[in-house]
Amino acid sequence: MTANESAISEADWRRATELIRAAGTLALACHVSPDADALGSMLGLGLALARTGKKVVASFGDRVFAVPRLLRFLPGQHLLAEPSAYPAEPELMITFDASTMERLGLLAPHAGKAGELVVIDHHVSNTGFGTVHLVDPAAASTTMVVEELMNRLGLTIDREVATCLYAGLVTDTGSFRHSITTPAAHAMAGRLLATGLRPEEIARELWDRSPFAYLRVLGTALGRATLEPDAAGGLGLVWTYVTRADRAAEGLPYDEVEGVIDVVRRVDEAEVAVVLKEDDEGGWNVSTRSKGAVDMARACAALGGGGHPRAAGFSSALSAADTMAALRPLLAPEGSRP
Ligand code: 5GP
Ligand code: MN
Repeated sequence: MTANESAISEADWRRATELIRAAGTLALACHVSPDADALGSMLGLGLALARTGKKVVASFGDRVFAVPRLLRFLPGQHLLAEPSAYPAEPELMITFDASTMERLGLLAPHAGKAGELVVIDHHVSNTGFGTVHLVDPAAASTTMVVEELMNRLGLTIDREVATCLYAGLVTDTGSFRHSITTPAAHAMAGRLLATGLRPEEIARELWDRSPFAYLRVLGTALGRATLEPDAAGGLGLVWTYVTRADRAAEGLPYDEVEGVIDVVRRVDEAEVAVVLKEDDEGGWNVSTRSKGAVDMARACAALGGGGHPRAAGFSSALSAADTMAALRPLLAPEGSRP
């Protein structure tokens, strides 16, 4: 594939636009514990379609259904419904930023029974679980794929829709810092800014505000960070964890600790950074990052998760120590594996 050639075939684009044009009702779903790319791509397309008179229902399959506080500023929240109110056998279902059927959580059975299932994603590990696939691993965010779909559908991208798409783009590019930051990503940002959206307000909502309790919990997590210089084939590992007791002591909800990894990953002495986050049920959600020498998508996939080469995750029912013991042997740098 050349740089100019999309991973998505013309036949898939045509099929997706035909299905969406023909459908009266659209059932949209993004991955569980949605981030800005998952929710932004879903609500952006949902808003634009709803404005053309389509009936739109949007959801995600978490057992406790709640939009993370950081993402409540996204327009289109009125389109959201709890999984219990989601159509059991949707005529047309569209998924966003989910690399596997399992990532749909409670909505996976609905996807299994959908008449047609359009999968929109940018994970290279996408398993192709739909009937039509708009999956482009070269896209910096799922919202980039959604923007092209909207253009092909002739939908209007106004400031509210653009806010949703921009939130996904800035999040998944790490504010245009990550290696995936292509000319196309900046060009899209330019088009979205031209709608009049407020980048400073979006940045503040996403990264620059927290309750005071976050400082306390962050301090606890950083205070117990461990550096293992010999791990990851000698390139180094830094890791820490946040327990539910840490959060309960300060009254901090789970979704407030997503940003801890962004502090931990800055350590010069470590190729790999890991943050284990205990949820309210006692399970661990593990965020991992590398600087490029270790393929985190591969390591996390081996433990039942997935993601991108430099940013991936998985869930674990083991203790924090046992989870790290399972992960450490998987951190061999590229080229050093047998
Ligand atoms: P984060 O650490 O920010 O939660 O996730 C980083 C990346 O890994 C994201 O692209 C996210 O979709 C992916 N990811 C995180 N947790 C999981 C998981 O349990 N399963 C899969 N398949 N991907 C995950
Ligand atoms: Mn994404």
